[in-house]
Amino acid sequence: MTEKLYYNDSYISDFYANIVAVENIDNSRALILDKTAFFPEGGGQSADTGYIGEAFIYDVQEKDGIIYHLTKSTDFPSVNTVAHCVLDAEKRFSKMQSHSGEHIVSGIAHSCFDAENVGFHMDGTLMTVDFDKPLSKEQLNIIEEKANACVYRNEKINTFILTAEEAAKYSYRSKLDFTGEVRLVEIENTDLCACCAPHLKSTGEIGIIKILSSASHRGGVRITLICGKTAFNDYSEKHNSTMNISAQLCSKHDKTAEAVAKLIETNSSLKYEFSARQKILLEIIASAIKPDNIICEFYNKLTMDDIREICNSAKDKCGMICIILSGNDENGYAYCIYSESEKLMSVMEAFKNTFGASGGGRGNMLQGKVKAGKSQIMNFFTELKV
Ligand SMILES: [Zn+2]
Repeated sequence: MTEKLYYNDSYISDFYANIVAVENIDNSRALILDKTAFFPEGGGQSADTGYIGEAFIYDVQEKDGIIYHLTKSTDFPSVNTVAHCVLDAEKRFSKMQSHSGEHIVSGIAHSCFDAENVGFHMDGTLMTVDFDKPLSKEQLNIIEEKANACVYRNEKINTFILTAEEAAKYSYRSKLDFTGEVRLVEIENTDLCACCAPHLKSTGEIGIIKILSSASHRGGVRITLICGKTAFNDYSEKHNSTMNISAQLCSKHDKTAEAVAKLIETNSSLKYEFSARQKILLEIIASAIKPDNIICEFYNKLTMDDIREICNSAKDKCGMICIILSGNDENGYAYCIYSESEKLMSVMEAFKNTFGASGGGRGNMLQGKVKAGKSQIMNFFTELKV
């Protein structure tokens, strides 16, 4: 069994321990110490990282009471020597802020709304917490407000290790049925919960508790939660973003939503106006096309929709075939072709074969793209004998 230093003092980040054994697990070396402050992955919380001697510990796992410190390094202290061990203290503190904040939120959700925490996951310091029943936005606001009030009161966080029988005398939150020892984490005046992870000493160290979002999940709700430094960084990032948007919109920072709504409204009416004017323009272009047996007209910077519109308007002016194109010799042309002749498909076939054109369609109107020179295309159609 590895002695768990983090059970009694979760602030140890620098310690000395004996290397008891080194095992190979997959492509890693697993260092086993007589005691450790490294928290192994568990209860939804990721493992600590850090160094044992010169070896970087990228993961820590526990199995049957033994804690395995995983490293890819070959430069690690040998068995039966005392090693200097250092955790990434900043990351650990941030995780403790997050985890302690989660206890507060889950405890308040339980005491106020009888909602049970049925799932917890920590990705870095971004957490998701699943509750077994839906919680409305108003209820989540109450939970968030009460959770932050608990931070302001700076409540003590205590841990106790009890036998299952002793623990049974208390009412505490837990997802497991314990038979051996139970480690209880108490946040005074707020929550009592069974948990194996390291926590802070008092709630004031958490700083900020913020629920970012909520979504329905398996008949209940999943919330995304951030605490402490992560919440502060998130606030800073969003504040900078808001100030940037506010400057660009020339609006006050608390009026950006109204300014964006106005921008969207203006954009939408401009689109409507543009579309109406575009329609007039296409009608003018189509009306300028002179009647002919074969109509072959080239334009630039028109969309496929535009040339289809022109082709539709001009199709009655052609005796045999009407082809409208837009583009240039360098990049190729989009085309729309119309003919009442039953031979339209065979003309298309020849067009495709001659220029490697792509496209298709139904009935008398076909469309596609072709990479060929303007004069070659013109020659192809003017020499047609349909
Ligand atoms: Zn915990």
